[in-house]
Amino acid sequence: MSGKLFGDIEYMKGIGSIKGEKYRRLGITTPYELLFHIPRNYLDFSRCVPLSEAVTGENNFLRLTVIKKLPVQSVRKGLAVAKATATDGTDDILLVFYNNIYTFNTLKENHIYYMYGKVTGNLIKKEMNAPVFLSEGDNLIQPVYRLTKGLSLNVIRNDIKRAIEILVNEPSETLPESIRREYNLAPLVWSLENIHFPENSLSADNARYRLAFEELLKLQLGMLMLKSRSKSHTAFKMNKNTDISDFLDSLPFRLTDGQKKATDEITADLCRDVPMNRLLQGDVGSGKTAVASVACYFSAKNGIQSALMAPTEILAVQHYNTLCGFLEPFGINVCLLTGSVTAKNKSAIREKILSGYYDVIVGTHAIIQKDVEYKSLGLVITDEQHRFGVAQRSALAGKGISPHRLVMSATPIPRTLALMIYGDLDISVIRQLPQGRKPIKTYAVTGKMRHRAFNFVRDRLSEGRQAYVVCPMIEDSDSELLAVRSYAENAVKEDLRGFSVEILHGKMSANEKDRVMKKFRDGNTDVLICTTVVEVGVDVPNAVVMVIENAERFGLSQIHQLRGRVGRGQFESSCILITDNLSEECRHRMKIMSSTTDGFKISEEDLKMRGPGDFFGNAQHGLPPVKVADISCDMELMQTAHRCAEEILLADPLLESEDNKCLKNEIVKLFQNGITG
Ligand code: ADP
Ligand code: MG
Repeated sequence: MSGKLFGDIEYMKGIGSIKGEKYRRLGITTPYELLFHIPRNYLDFSRCVPLSEAVTGENNFLRLTVIKKLPVQSVRKGLAVAKATATDGTDDILLVFYNNIYTFNTLKENHIYYMYGKVTGNLIKKEMNAPVFLSEGDNLIQPVYRLTKGLSLNVIRNDIKRAIEILVNEPSETLPESIRREYNLAPLVWSLENIHFPENSLSADNARYRLAFEELLKLQLGMLMLKSRSKSHTAFKMNKNTDISDFLDSLPFRLTDGQKKATDEITADLCRDVPMNRLLQGDVGSGKTAVASVACYFSAKNGIQSALMAPTEILAVQHYNTLCGFLEPFGINVCLLTGSVTAKNKSAIREKILSGYYDVIVGTHAIIQKDVEYKSLGLVITDEQHRFGVAQRSALAGKGISPHRLVMSATPIPRTLALMIYGDLDISVIRQLPQGRKPIKTYAVTGKMRHRAFNFVRDRLSEGRQAYVVCPMIEDSDSELLAVRSYAENAVKEDLRGFSVEILHGKMSANEKDRVMKKFRDGNTDVLICTTVVEVGVDVPNAVVMVIENAERFGLSQIHQLRGRVGRGQFESSCILITDNLSEECRHRMKIMSSTTDGFKISEEDLKMRGPGDFFGNAQHGLPPVKVADISCDMELMQTAHRCAEEILLADPLLESEDNKCLKNEIVKLFQNGITG
């Protein structure tokens, strides 16, 4: 495809350099891209009601004849008000336009218009302020777009109309005819026309379906191609008769069914010719580390080194301690390699990694950097927590070696999203928590209840337990530090008088953080006042209460992760959410948090409310943006697209046929940011 459709948007009729710049700021550089500026929703003017039945105080669609345009009044400097009377035979209404004389001037007396706007007033006198209107003969379904500064709805609509005129003259199609027939998909040109200017709601639905399908299909194709690309041979095929029963017997607990199943899947992968590429997904506290330890044991028995990467130093230390405890009794040597290891120790450790003395290497992701050489690194485990994205995963695969890879994620994500983000991985899910865990009780209160909440905290502390208080992370790290510090000072003076308090935040050095964390873990600090630094996987079973301040500032999944820090021992645990935000949305969120501990359910809600972009915060998941599909509810469509992608690749693994040429080009373009490399 080429021609005007893919030329600079600036040169499209009616646009020019100023508007062109505004579009560029939206990421729109060609008329074709403009066509993918998809309507947020539609105004359906076919839903007109008689004026006598219009609901006052709400938006209504009306079909009105303008009776008389009144003279424009200048209320005060810079504010002009224009009015007109109108009727539909059932009643009369006054139309009011503020400072919008241009629009007002287009109205003609004795003509019929479709109008949309809020109706105010009473039975005797009705008014409609700043109505949106269409003339008779216009398309009754009008698109509504996300608005941007300097580009009004009308401007965008008209520009898109022109882009469609270009499109119609440069017919194009991205999907092979056979796929369109099999999945009952409308042609591209028709779909783009109808997603913007549908004749009726059915054609809007069909258009959206086709475009969403294509979008998800490309995503799935890209992911699957990535997956098959990494399926080269591995030099680390292990022996499937490796006996792990002694190790399993030695663990301080019996694996749950979910852990067992995941372990079986992983060890089976390790014995195949192709490298494992697996996501281990499990709620906080589901015991993923134990599963990882089995994988390390299995590899060590096969004479193969494993590396376990954690996103933070605190976590690395914790994993190191856990793995040492489990593995060293079997003569398996575990080392810790992080930024804070001294240079001298580091080189000693590196030597022993190269010589093969160490079987298991734990650390931050520095352990896969170039200066660390391994004797036989055959298994790389990342405790991901969404901190490493698709791009990083494929970067590792591109290192020339083909180790087995296991990614652990603590955020349970809906299956559709998992398919999308981890489409390049196989997935193991641990659904249940170990037995005997007491569910965390969660309460949401306002600031007025803070003192009572802290009474409760003090009671637990007096019983010898510990507590966390989480303050929201503030972007600017200096104020983050200040906020936590001053909060701590006040708390010590008031609510936590007599108890030992330490603070933990992102601005501290790794050493400092470690010291504070260790002290808390050893029970020498009663209360840890912290930011979300503590979010990832820290395990202190004696901590039984968590207070979260300004709870409205956290995402649902994030709160779920945070509160997973408590409830890790034999004690009953609670989480108290404090917020003064009384908006309906916030209340709804707090209600979800206090009514369920099912991480999957929570993340689904989270996704629904925030959309996939915000769901991941700033984390670079490295995926192309999804514009048409709504991945929080297009579950079925995602699965259909996945199936279709598998079908296409089965017949044409590298998309080399003439039919698939267009698709391939688009996928290469989409994934060019590091993924297809
Ligand atoms: P996560 O999946 O959040 O990383 P961890 O691996 O940190 O979970 O495990 C949480 C806690 O549960 C740890 O204290 C661990 O020792 C314990 N644990 C793990 N598996 C089991 C089990 N099968 N039965 C009882 N406790 C377990
Ligand atoms: Mg963990």
